[in-house]
Amino acid sequence: ITTFITPIRKLSSFAEMFANGFAGLQRFADLMRTEPDLRDAPDARDLGRVAGRVDVEHVSFAYREGVAVLHDVDLHVKAGETIAVVGPSGGGKSTLCQLIPRFYDVTSGAIRIDGQDVREVTQESLHRNVGVVQQDVFLFADSVFENIRYGRPDATEEEVIAAAKQAEIYDDIMEMPDGFDSYVGERGTMLSGGQKQRISIARIFLKNPPVLILDEATSALDSVTEAKIQETFDQLAKGRTTFIIAHRLSTVRNADRILVVRDGGIEEQGRHEELMGRDGAYAALYRTQNLSNG
Ligand code: ADP
Ligand code: MG
Repeated sequence: ITTFITPIRKLSSFAEMFANGFAGLQRFADLMRTEPDLRDAPDARDLGRVAGRVDVEHVSFAYREGVAVLHDVDLHVKAGETIAVVGPSGGGKSTLCQLIPRFYDVTSGAIRIDGQDVREVTQESLHRNVGVVQQDVFLFADSVFENIRYGRPDATEEEVIAAAKQAEIYDDIMEMPDGFDSYVGERGTMLSGGQKQRISIARIFLKNPPVLILDEATSALDSVTEAKIQETFDQLAKGRTTFIIAHRLSTVRNADRILVVRDGGIEEQGRHEELMGRDGAYAALYRTQNLSNG
């Protein structure tokens, strides 16, 4: 019920935000994207810094009452594991991954990180531990520097520069008119899609979270850019628990475990060779060379 009502309640402040012009409109779009405003429990604990074990315990989830999109998903991930999530569009890949940083609350079951229920910890400490790289990157109307530092607001200048280098956006920034001081503009219109994604990757390097969610972009990139992004993703995944909604065969092949998500459940799981040998759902997807959509 709450998940259904909250977005409507947010609409009431739309007029107010519209009065602020485009900045207001951007804010509105962001609010709608984050959906329900989940609050910290009164006795919420600080999660501290986790090792990164993730347990999805018999989780069911519905955006709207009575319309379940995940059905009794049970998944146990060791700290440091890389999980590739594949499957047809609308199967529930993004939904499953968004429950880990608690963008929504489960309808039944529980999500635990290092054994702690995500509903029982502060969202601030949860988001310190779980980094998310999504396809549509949120940028502020501010400098490139501040947009990167958003990953960890107390980072030093040296740390921001190091993160830009790790994300391989440093050279691009140096070519901009004012370097790190270059103004990004409303919605980051000055930057290409690839540059925006690299800024969000730089934020992750700064934040250094033990758990990472990557929703890989499907947009066609040239093969050189593809290969470079792949290398960066491999670097990002190192030493963290990583869930990657993957389209590239190379990403999927290298994963510790592949999940085929379909109709709100895990249809099959295992390593690439194992699943190819089984000649089931994954092998069929693999043959189409189209591992996932959406
Ligand atoms: P995938 O990432 O595998 O394409 P999703 O998790 O995006 O699948 O979607 C799973 C199901 O949930 C689909 O039926 C989709 O229409 C529905 N869905 C996704 N996001 C929302 C939302 N914000 N509100 C209502 N339904 C949604
Ligand atoms: Mg998706």
